[in-house]
Amino acid sequence: VRSVRYRDPLIRSLHTLARDDILVVCPRCAAGAVVAPLTPEGRTDCWQPRRFACHACGHTDTWERPAATAWGNPVDPYFRMPLWLRVPCCGRELWAFHEKHLDLLDGWIGAKLRERGDGPRGMTLLARTPGWMTSARNRQEVLRGLRRLRQTLR
Ligand SMILES: [Zn+2]
Repeated sequence: VRSVRYRDPLIRSLHTLARDDILVVCPRCAAGAVVAPLTPEGRTDCWQPRRFACHACGHTDTWERPAATAWGNPVDPYFRMPLWLRVPCCGRELWAFHEKHLDLLDGWIGAKLRERGDGPRGMTLLARTPGWMTSARNRQEVLRGLRRLRQTLR
């Protein structure tokens, strides 16, 4: 359900979204797999160890600091596996970590009125959304892309 107004929930960065399970493509069998916190602490701290697990083929892996991370690309930041939620869109690539990320983009891009909200200084994740995604010209195609991604979750 899309509303006319959408208030920025003031999520600072992808680091916050990475606390939740990230949907990836298994490098061994290409099935959908998950990068998740290894311990409960990881649900509130994206720098805690992560575990990759594929239920289709049984492949697992563990990430721990100080191994390097990669942010801002269509891969999970820890293992750099391709995200499950990726689709060509407007000559670019639309991607998301998980369903909650889709919800945020959908709300922000679909809204007629984007409310920045009162928050700490500095740009939020949504305020930094690339211009090609928020431009009125691309809006319908981006929203279609988000719908296509959502369908792959069923
Ligand atoms: Zn697999």
